[in-house]
Amino acid sequence: MVRKRDRFWEYVELLDGKFKCKFCDRKFAGGVPRVKSHLSGIKGGGIDICTKVPEDVRIAATEASPGLNKRAKAEACSGKIEETLLKMHISKDDVMPDKLLVKFILLNGEDVDIVRRPSFIDFVDAVAKHGSHYKLPCCSVIKTKLVPDLEKEIGEYVANVKKSWVRTVCTLINYVWQREKRSFMSIFAYSIEGVVLLNALEIPSSMLIFDLVEGIPYFVTREIGANNVTQYIIQNPGDCLEFMPNDDHTH
Ligand SMILES: [Zn+2]
Repeated sequence: MVRKRDRFWEYVELLDGKFKCKFCDRKFAGGVPRVKSHLSGIKGGGIDICTKVPEDVRIAATEASPGLNKRAKAEACSGKIEETLLKMHISKDDVMPDKLLVKFILLNGEDVDIVRRPSFIDFVDAVAKHGSHYKLPCCSVIKTKLVPDLEKEIGEYVANVKKSWVRTVCTLINYVWQREKRSFMSIFAYSIEGVVLLNALEIPSSMLIFDLVEGIPYFVTREIGANNVTQYIIQNPGDCLEFMPNDDHTH
């Protein structure tokens, strides 16, 4: 029984004991395993790979060579591992900003509620959209250029929000937080036009949180007008107390 001639011989010409590839015209010594290796496009087989082989022939040559096929799979697998590692790297990076945010909050004595403040959220969103090439401006640029440029705009924004208190209702929120046995609070007024910080101060240690409720009407009547406030919310981490303006607590 005559053994069937390997089909890959048809892609080469035999010349002087060598074979010449019909696709790239290069000549090599060796038998059919080297023909397949050349046509498979898989590097490292001890022979230069063919740069002009049609895709169907290349795939057939890879499949017809168990050794090459195994190596091709291993290469594809290592590619997947690299891809997975890349994804892991990205997800690791995703965690980093959270840690840096907490570091920023703790080292600067900021309130954790900063993550709910619209202006802070706007800043973070803008940095994310700007991409990795964003650099913080230096102090002198902020003081001499950015602040003067924006002061007018912010002044107009605040004036506009304050004007809205007359025609729309607003919610007054007291954020209370503790740091190193000291307590602080910020009072924000939320209305349909936006948010304005009314006051930020340290709470004397002799004062209880419920005493604050007595102090709120003072800010309300002075800044907003009692009739324009729908509710007061005193909020500290893990706690949230709500009072309607006509509650007995506010008198
Ligand atoms: Zn070739």
